[in-house]
Formats: sequence, C-alpha cells, structure tokens
Amino acid sequence: MTVVSLGASAVQVPDLRDFTLKELTQWMTSLDEPAYRARQIFHWLWKRPVEDFRQMTDLPIACRAVLEAQARIGAVAVVAVQSSADGTRKLLLRLLDGEQIEAVLIPEARRLTACISTQAGCAMECGFCLTATMGLHRNLRPGEIAGQLVALGSTLAPGERITHVVLMGMGEPLANVTATEKALQILVAKDGLGFAPRRITLSTVGLVPGIRRLAQSGLGVNLAVSLTATTDEVRDRLVPINRHYPLRELLQACRDFPLPPRRHITFEYVLMADVNDHVEDARRLVTLLKGIRCKVNLIPLNEAPNIPFRRPPRQRIEAFQRIVERAGYIATIRDSRGQDISAACGMLATAETRLDTACAIP
Ligand code: SAH
Repeated sequence: MTVVSLGASAVQVPDLRDFTLKELTQWMTSLDEPAYRARQIFHWLWKRPVEDFRQMTDLPIACRAVLEAQARIGAVAVVAVQSSADGTRKLLLRLLDGEQIEAVLIPEARRLTACISTQAGCAMECGFCLTATMGLHRNLRPGEIAGQLVALGSTLAPGERITHVVLMGMGEPLANVTATEKALQILVAKDGLGFAPRRITLSTVGLVPGIRRLAQSGLGVNLAVSLTATTDEVRDRLVPINRHYPLRELLQACRDFPLPPRRHITFEYVLMADVNDHVEDARRLVTLLKGIRCKVNLIPLNEAPNIPFRRPPRQRIEAFQRIVERAGYIATIRDSRGQDISAACGMLATAETRLDTACAIP
C-alpha cells in the first residue's frame, strides 16, 4: 500500500503493479468485480502498459471509475540514459518517493539482456562492490522491480525487444525475497511480461534460506551464485555474509537446488590480484564444485578509486580459467560491458555527481 495524497486528505490505495495476477484476481473479487477482469487489467499493466485507467478501453466505464477511486498504477520513471561505446546503455530510474536506482541494457549477437535492481543500495557490504558503499536505502516493491522492464522497454528502438533478464543490478535479491518472488511471477506470467523462466537469472551473494526458498517456489528461473572465494577465511573477508552462511552450507544448498535437464547453476567469481587468483584457488574451486551441474563465470575485477583491490594480469586470469576448464567445467571470462559508463558488474551506485555526465531525457 502506498499513500497517495489527494489534496489535504491521504488515502491508502494499492499500486496494482505490486500485485501478481492471483492477488489482483482476489482484490477484484473483494470489490465485487468479476474475476476475469483481473486478467484484462494485468494485460494493461504489463503487456500493453498504460498508466491511466482511462486507457483501459475494454473495461466498462463503471469498472474504470471503481479502479480510479480504489487503486493507482505506479510507474518507474527514466531520468537519464548513458550509452557506452560497446552499445550497453545504463538507465538512471526514479521511483515514486524520489529514490533512484540503475538498470542496464546489454545488447549481444541475438539477445538483449536487461539487468535490473531489487534494492536501492545494498546491505551486504562486499568489499569489492561499489553498490555496497551506498548502504541499503530500501527494498524495492514487486511493481518497482518488474516495472524497470516497462521503463527500459519505453526506451527501445523500433524492432528491439528484451530477450533476457538478469537480477544482477543493485541489491541482493534474496534479501528482498518476497518482493522478488512476486516480481518474478509477473515476469513469467503469460498475461504479464511473458518471459520464459530459462531466460531469467537471479544472482545471489549466497543467502542460503533464500536459495532454498527459491528452490521450493517452482519458478524455474536460473540461479547464479557470486562465490568469489574458495576458503571461508578469504570469503569472510570479501563477502561478510559468509560468516552466517559458510561455504559448506552454501554449496550444499546449491547441490540441493533442483535443475531441469540441461540447466546449470552459474558460479560467478570476481578475480582480484593476489587475493583469490592463485593456482591453489582454482584447484580448490574445482574441488568445491564437485557434484554440482554448473559453469563458472570469471569476472576480472572492475576497479574503482574506493575499492581497495586490483584486477589480476590477463595471463593470471587465463591460467585460472585453464585449470577450471581442465577439470571439465565451462569457464568463461566475462569482460564486463559498459565500463566507460560505469555500467559494469559491481559499478552501479547512484550519486548525484554521476548525473553530470548523463544525458538527460527530455
Ligand atoms: N547481490 C547479488 C546481485 C548483484 S550481481 C550478487 O551478489 O550476486 C553483481 C555481480 O557483480 C556479482 O556477481 C558481484 O560479485 C559482481 N561484482 C561486484 N563488484 C564487482 C566489481 N568491482 N567488479 C566485478 N564484479 C563485481
């Protein structure tokens, strides 16, 4: 529920974009409206998105009047777009309360991936991540998570279409698991955004209860785990949440994660010079991953002035990759896209100063 102020009075009305189709159906029934109208409205919220009930032309006028009095439609506003030389676009987005977040569009050969946020800021305090320096401002609501795709969609060129979604923007999705699950339901709903679950990937720092809950949700989206260290000693230091969910528990939750045929868990491993890039790390990594159907995504650290780590030399990154590959795993080196506009992994952080270089949308 959000408070919308109407002159002097303030009324609590729900934002319909926070509802899954099931919730919207229940809500409509509670208003004595026929349940099938929920599907029509859901269509207008997500498939052909409008933000004004008057544009929902297949609803009876009386129904539109009820909606106008009892509900609202929240929108995520595009504040600015920055384009990278490599085609990556970073969008600065504004939520209703003025909070700002970032999302990224990454074009590749035959796909267009949208990278969206689940929190404004982050509370996980990973020592190598710029978002962490913001701290947590607040959780996003379901409509704000899924609504980023509507906002991104409004900036696309004719013929462009978002094909894949990664929950790898700001924040830790499993620290905001209820809203994230609802957003995912909206993403995969046929009358919603209509993405196949296999085209969606949720990336987590390794919150074990959240991983188990996602496993039970039956949503069927891909799981990525930001592992980044091979001993608890090093991981405790880089990823403080490891003190609560150490490697053994984390990897057990991954082993227990149900995987459809031909699907993998992705382990992200941010490589930092002399911290976690040793030959011994690569060897320990393959031992840790035994028994898990997975691939490894090696991400050379994106450096920033207030991050106290360095990217390893290329040779060292490739030597690490060879060891993982020789053990039989697919290991890719992900050269982060959009580095010139700070859209790369771990580089999302809103600061007013960033706006100076952004080109404002009229
Ligand atoms: N909280 C989730 C989602 C964020 S995804 C998670 O941790 O997975 C962001 C990805 O970028 C994570 O894999 C993270 O480890 C990685 N990352 C963070 N800081 C980075 C940096 N400075 N350079 C490269 N990758 C980074």
